[in-house]
Amino acid sequence: MLFSEENYETHKRGRIEVICGSMFSGKTEELIRRLKRAKIARQKVEIFKPSIDIRYSEEEIVSHDSNSIQSTPVDSSASILLLSSGVDVVGIDEAQFFDQGIVDICNQLADQGTRVIVAGLDMDFKKVPFGPMPYLLSIADEVTKVHAICVECGHLANYSHRLIDNDKRVLLGEKGEYQPLCRTCYNKKHASQE
Ligand SMILES: [Zn+2]
Repeated sequence: MLFSEENYETHKRGRIEVICGSMFSGKTEELIRRLKRAKIARQKVEIFKPSIDIRYSEEEIVSHDSNSIQSTPVDSSASILLLSSGVDVVGIDEAQFFDQGIVDICNQLADQGTRVIVAGLDMDFKKVPFGPMPYLLSIADEVTKVHAICVECGHLANYSHRLIDNDKRVLLGEKGEYQPLCRTCYNKKHASQE
């Protein structure tokens, strides 16, 4: 078994799970998989994403392979706490775009007995830890790092290489704008760009 998830669907025990990785690593797919299992176990599930992420749909989390699940866009992490009373499992997607308050809120929810499953980009396109993600990784009970495949050499990819010339940190991802690369290929590309 890939993840030690026995009992998590039925045990009412607060915990924080973080799923992190580069773009195209399957983070959202893994989040959706866990949330669907919780639903099958008749857990009350709520899913939140930052309202900045409106690539495809206002109210659904849509992963790159179009596996989707109903979600609520929120402007700030504080709204997550307000909207989570009586919920067994809280899913949070694109956590890197949330404010730092998300760290405390995940802890508060878990302390109250809620299972919190967070998915997010661990690094931006410059290999810098992204927003609150390093803090969320620190406070997590369990961390899952998923990997994309390097489009240059086929090894596991950790980095999201930006193909277009734009220095803004937030540029919502589509296949045409980013490429997953391994360390070697990422460094090669950046050496040749300088
Ligand atoms: Zn490579």
